[in-house]
Amino acid sequence: MESETHLLRTAEDVRAAGDNVLRGGAFKPSTSPYEFQGLGEKGLKLLAKARRATGLAVVTELLSETHAGLVAEYTDIIQIGARNSQNFQLLIAAARTGKPILLKRGLSMKIEEWLLAGEYVLSSGNCNLMFCERGIRTFETYTRNTLDLSTIPIIKQESHCPIVIDPSQGAGRADLVKAMCKGAVAMGADALLIEVHPNPAEAWSDGTQQLSLELFAQLMRELRPLILAAGRE
Ligand code: PEP
Ligand code: MN
Repeated sequence: MESETHLLRTAEDVRAAGDNVLRGGAFKPSTSPYEFQGLGEKGLKLLAKARRATGLAVVTELLSETHAGLVAEYTDIIQIGARNSQNFQLLIAAARTGKPILLKRGLSMKIEEWLLAGEYVLSSGNCNLMFCERGIRTFETYTRNTLDLSTIPIIKQESHCPIVIDPSQGAGRADLVKAMCKGAVAMGADALLIEVHPNPAEAWSDGTQQLSLELFAQLMRELRPLILAAGRE
């Protein structure tokens, strides 16, 4: 989230394209401290405003235990990012807010470790857990990460929790997002987390992996028949 205009425009467009949940970063775990860190509490307020304006449910990342109460006040779902996926005290604090948790897979995390990280949420008494595959570090350099679609059947076999696929972080390349979404839908993914921006070339972070709002709407149209063919609504 960069500004009110940016967020509201994005929220309205994705809603019109058929989306039903809006993810926006207020506290951003940027790799460099000199990059955009997010708008903080102001961002949370914008997210709540976008929810009121559109009816979309909202998701945002929790970076610190000290912000658990604050973030829970504004969001419907709490994201735990890849860099914090084994920050167990943070997982427990997030779980105890009672909000559903979207748990990203860590950059070099084995599936077993990811499932056990999820157990920290479940064993804290919060059964609303979603796993989110966002690609792992491999030797490959064509893509930012290697999106591991085998996690879809594996998470379904090993847990009762939904599996969400994030092809934006997975590939780091907007041109690959469509194909990976189609693959994920065919394999039975429960949701897709897709990064968008009204003008990706000018995005304050991760511009190379974001779809324009027009390409997002087109992707949603192309996915619809595949979602139906996969027996989902
Ligand atoms: C993000 O979703 O923008 C993000 C920072 O993701 P991850 O934690 O998967 O790197
Ligand atoms: Mn991102």
